[in-house]
Amino acid sequence: MRDFKMQDLAKVLRFGWPYLRRYLGRFASGVMLAVLFGLTNAILLWAINTILIRMSPEAPASITQSAGATHTLGRVEQWKADLQKGSEAVVDQWLPRAGRQADWRQIVGGLLLFPLLAALRGFVGYGSSYCLAWVSERVVNDLRVEVLRKLSSLSLDYFNKATTGDLITRVNGDTAMLQRCLNGGLSDLIKEPVTVIGLVAMLFAIDWKLTLMVLVFFPLVIVPIVVLGKKVRRSAKAGLNTTITQASLIVEVLSGIRVVKAFNLEEQQVERFQRMSKDLVAHSMRTTRAKEITNPIIESIGTLGFGLLVVVIVLRQVKIEDMVTLLTGVAFIYTPIKKLAGVHNLIQQTHSGIDRLMQVLREKPSVEETPHPVRLSGFQSGLALDRVGFSYGHETVLADVSIELPRGTKLGIAGESGSGKSTLVNLLFRFYDPTSGAIRIDGKDLRELSLHDLRERMALVSQEVVLFDMTVAENIGCGRPGATRAEIEAAAKAAFAHDFIQRLPEGYDTRVAERGLNLSGGQRQRLAIARAFVRNAPILVLDEATAALDAQSEAEVQVAIERLEENRTVICVAHRLSTLRNMDRIIVLSAGRIVEDGTFTGLVQSGGRFADMARRQGVGI
Ligand code: ADP
Repeated sequence: MRDFKMQDLAKVLRFGWPYLRRYLGRFASGVMLAVLFGLTNAILLWAINTILIRMSPEAPASITQSAGATHTLGRVEQWKADLQKGSEAVVDQWLPRAGRQADWRQIVGGLLLFPLLAALRGFVGYGSSYCLAWVSERVVNDLRVEVLRKLSSLSLDYFNKATTGDLITRVNGDTAMLQRCLNGGLSDLIKEPVTVIGLVAMLFAIDWKLTLMVLVFFPLVIVPIVVLGKKVRRSAKAGLNTTITQASLIVEVLSGIRVVKAFNLEEQQVERFQRMSKDLVAHSMRTTRAKEITNPIIESIGTLGFGLLVVVIVLRQVKIEDMVTLLTGVAFIYTPIKKLAGVHNLIQQTHSGIDRLMQVLREKPSVEETPHPVRLSGFQSGLALDRVGFSYGHETVLADVSIELPRGTKLGIAGESGSGKSTLVNLLFRFYDPTSGAIRIDGKDLRELSLHDLRERMALVSQEVVLFDMTVAENIGCGRPGATRAEIEAAAKAAFAHDFIQRLPEGYDTRVAERGLNLSGGQRQRLAIARAFVRNAPILVLDEATAALDAQSEAEVQVAIERLEENRTVICVAHRLSTLRNMDRIIVLSAGRIVEDGTFTGLVQSGGRFADMARRQGVGI
């Protein structure tokens, strides 16, 4: 059972080590101070014993007298006697003794011994806690950044599987939990074992038989510590699961607030939240009960030893000063043991969170970059899909899709919903890799290129406009890092966004509130187009860019899009066929296959699926 705990500890330490290593100096100082702190506890016990011996009426004039005939002693006792003799010579000068006139040194010594020891213990403890907290704050902070970096490096399939609440909890909740564990536990984890060892050593020096007798009871406290620790782990895990679901619920409600309101779902959602909160309270209380019952149990079992000690002391007529020291020492030992049990509980509580963090950090993107990517210079000849097949799982989503797209071609992709249009776009950006076949850019397989190189050549304008909580200028400028203000304004002008941006309260420096609620759909889309202008990428992918807009906004945005399309290779996915009118070539997908291929006019005239869709939408030639 003990192994179990050590394993957990080893796991946490192994996991934290690469992060800890960066702050090794401060960490080592913290550890050293913590060890010193542990030792001061033993020194305090020594001081109590020494003072008691010196204050008792039959205080020996010197340790040499009490040591008696030293040649009859065993080796350990001999060593002990020598040590005592050496220290006694120094101590005797500085501490008062019963039955002796005290000089100034002894008065000062008596006055300051305990205050000095207490101050030493206090400040050393402070220093250790400070250094270790300094390190753990930084470690957790680094880790939080690392988790987000890792998450953003993962491929889209990972995000399809995970809920938003789960991801947010990994970055924030799990790391915060670890922070609590390190802040509260790391320092105790070093201080307290040293304290226990120091105290036990002192007690052994005073009376090893009695000490051994008392210690027999201590292994017994390990059983409740382990059992309760498991309980803490289980309830903490259940609590964590509820927290994750709750976080997802918050994201759902807030991001879908329009629908929530429109369907009068506020109360229903709040009730769901409330139910989870109740569960959370129950889990928390279960954790608290298991944690808090640990100390009373330790005390009850541990004090059995204390009781036995009292009886034996009386029966054996132990000297009063040793008796007081023994009793004080044993009483002292409870605190570190209780603290260690607390650390154990804390580790159990953090266990699931740490597991989850380790899981994320071990995760590998399914779309991996080759270690030695081929460099791409510009975009020369064109794009080609060569018998591309794809599946997200079992079902085939794309099959045998082949297209040659010379540079400068404008390709429209039409098809019913679910026919695989967005999937094709996902493959072009290498969000996923084809299951069979290959996509080539200038004759090079996308898998041979660096992701950065590939995506630098592409710009995406999709139905869903993502604006960050930054200024308008920054939102446009993020299309290409390093874009100047002049370039940003030129892009905004080209996207017909300049005028409305200037009318915003602070023009280009207006912060776009999260989700850009203060901008209309058309305005948001024109910002996205400006971003694509700044990017100035040779390949432009439009994924239902105007699908969410009303007719008026669509017309405005369409003009901007047409300007953006000039001199670029365009791939335009559209459900609304009128937007495909100026494409050079259109393919029609059905159940993942190309079923028609031609020009807009040609397809309408051919009377196939495209013509059908066009007729239903009232689109003529
Ligand atoms: P379209 O864009 O033409 O509406 P999609 O490319 O989005 O079509 O979807 C094609 C098929 O792939 C659909 O059957 C859809 O259910 C499935 N699909 C889309 N995305 C995923 C995904 N992330 N995981 C599993 N199946 C998916």
